[in-house]
Amino acid sequence: LLSGQKEYAIVDETPGTTSDTVLALMEIHGLGPCKLFDTAGIDEYSSLGEKRRKKAYEALEESDLCCIVIDLILAIKRGNIDLELALIKHAKKYNIKTVIIYNIFWEEEKSLKGQDVKQYAETFDALSGVPSHLLSANNEEDQSDFIACIQQCRAAEKRDIQLLPNVQKDAFVVLVIPMDEETPTLRLLRPQDMAIERLLRNFSIPVLFRMDLTKARSENFQERNEEKNRFLGLIQRFSGTSDLLSLVLTDSQAFDVVADWIPHNVPLSSFSIMMAHYMSGGNIDFLIEGVQAGDTLKEGDHVLIAEACNHNRKCNDIGTVQIPRLLRKKIGKTGEISFSFGRTFPDDLTPYKLIVHCGACMIDRQKYRRRVQKAKEEGVAFTNYGFFLSYEKNKALFKRVVQVFMHKEG
Ligand code: SF4
Repeated sequence: LLSGQKEYAIVDETPGTTSDTVLALMEIHGLGPCKLFDTAGIDEYSSLGEKRRKKAYEALEESDLCCIVIDLILAIKRGNIDLELALIKHAKKYNIKTVIIYNIFWEEEKSLKGQDVKQYAETFDALSGVPSHLLSANNEEDQSDFIACIQQCRAAEKRDIQLLPNVQKDAFVVLVIPMDEETPTLRLLRPQDMAIERLLRNFSIPVLFRMDLTKARSENFQERNEEKNRFLGLIQRFSGTSDLLSLVLTDSQAFDVVADWIPHNVPLSSFSIMMAHYMSGGNIDFLIEGVQAGDTLKEGDHVLIAEACNHNRKCNDIGTVQIPRLLRKKIGKTGEISFSFGRTFPDDLTPYKLIVHCGACMIDRQKYRRRVQKAKEEGVAFTNYGFFLSYEKNKALFKRVVQVFMHKEG
């Protein structure tokens, strides 16, 4: 009913028809592009039912709004909504707004022998304490009211996190983008794209600088100096004549060079820290605590390095070479480093002392939020690549690069 796509997935009255979570994309006016997860039912207690329930709970944890569909006639006959109440409790734990959708097939109503279905719905509402909406899933006319209900539930929740706070109109922001053999052609990476879009929208001025890191780190003084002068020449053009240079945002792998070169009064941060701020909903305190927990790592500890996408590895890769190299100094030869790449993430995080996560530009904020929440619940420190690299390089530098985002957004 919601997507209006009857043929999208197999639909049947037989219980257990939906096994895996079905995903549909839909533009909902006022909310923008939305992902709809249609999960399997959670009321089956076979071993397959357990797997279905796990998937349903995972989808719930990655959502902004959870619509719990209750077959009202069945619930009245059952006399309780205990399963649904457990879902609501779980959603609350993840701060996810919930609405109950009572689905009713009016032709079945006569089996209730005159009992008032709406009165039952009110009784269940009193138990659940969440808003509800009554519809008939096979009545196309109910679609617009259902969408209005979703719009209303989400309107109160929607918060826009500023990607780059404190950048004024007409201010310049220098984006340092080193290109190496791993850099894709004919496109920028998503965090770079996102920063440029935000700056343009804000009438600020992005200035893109390709730094040659090979030259910047060269043993040859003249070569290194040439690259330094090229970069500083650009910086001085903006900071020398006015105070309009708001920020220098660099790829984390160039932190060592950029931080050494630019004057200390110029605000500096990285794409990775920008993403962590954005993905964490504006609260980076947990990630800062996580990076500090790295100081307590000791010989034999187990660390998880997590990347949200798969990509083929080149030499000096951040996730598989640079970060493990730094970690080894802390956890020694007996320590263990595990990796998780792509959309999978371990179910049990308790073996790990620390999780170091990439900027997560390829997954949505909800999926990332679930990972952070899971780490919090299981008492495991969690931080981000950019945080880790800058903190390990220089603690004063770390303070400087997170400063740009150190304000609470709720
Ligand atoms: S998802 Fe993570 S590993 Fe993949 S490109 Fe984005 S930041 Fe890099």
